[in-house]
Amino acid sequence: MVQIVYLNGQFLPLEEARIPVLDRGFIFGDGVYEVIPVYSHHPFRLQDHLKRLQHSLDGIRLANPYKDAEWDALVKELIACNEGEDQYLYLHITRGVARRDHAFPKNTPPTVFMMSSPLLPPDPTLRQNGVAAITATDNRWLRCDIKAISLLPNVLLRQQAVDAGTAETLMLRDGFLSEGSASNIFVVKDSILLAPPKGPLMLPGITYDVVLELAAANGVMFHVEPVPECTLRSADEIWLTSSTREILPITHLDGQAVGSGAPGPLYRKLDRLYQDYKATIMRQPAS
Ligand code: PMP
Repeated sequence: MVQIVYLNGQFLPLEEARIPVLDRGFIFGDGVYEVIPVYSHHPFRLQDHLKRLQHSLDGIRLANPYKDAEWDALVKELIACNEGEDQYLYLHITRGVARRDHAFPKNTPPTVFMMSSPLLPPDPTLRQNGVAAITATDNRWLRCDIKAISLLPNVLLRQQAVDAGTAETLMLRDGFLSEGSASNIFVVKDSILLAPPKGPLMLPGITYDVVLELAAANGVMFHVEPVPECTLRSADEIWLTSSTREILPITHLDGQAVGSGAPGPLYRKLDRLYQDYKATIMRQPAS
């Protein structure tokens, strides 16, 4: 299977895509990205992803190279160029190629890269049994709402989880839960779903929004409020959410069972609602 990518106006095989070493993404990590799941050729919540992309671009003061309708057309062409009903798209925009200098270059076109990879559903045994996670101090910067390509802290935090034989690192900042190294985190306490509020200290997840919408539409009590460490540690349920991992129950945290140590009833309910919601998206006619 030839993987077709998009680079600066061209669709081409991944092996042929090249960028100069002076690209500011390579030199400084000066860029932003998006990850968009595609189900049955339908990009999931594309408008929301494009809105978040605009927010990230605004956050780093980089002009959006395309209008939403242009992104829409490019995304659909990329999906059509690649095999597989379910794909995940990676969009990446950097401040372009320029002589190395921290300050922004003038009149430099951005580098725009898009790639599609096969999207595999989360392993059913993980949804059935849950995953383990650890906690760590959130040592990232104060603009975690920007989906920046400079992911070194997230990389180190995720590796900490892997080294501990677990699936994710949950971050705590000043005694409160922020998010996972590559996911948002929900907590259930006394049958109420708790979600840390959006703000500069976490990425506004698209899956996070879907979970809260489904909760609101289906009579699930929820509060969007800061989650203190003690609530996290005494939670009845903990879930992680992300576009590629969907909703996964965390059943062990720092070696301790979460609640009964098995996925809880509210997880089962929201996961079912999420799967049903995905199925309705897939049945829509392609636009
Ligand atoms: N937080 C971080 C740090 C992430 O990397 C991700 C995954 N992109 C998320 C949250 C979840 O966001 P989404 O639901 O849009 O995938």
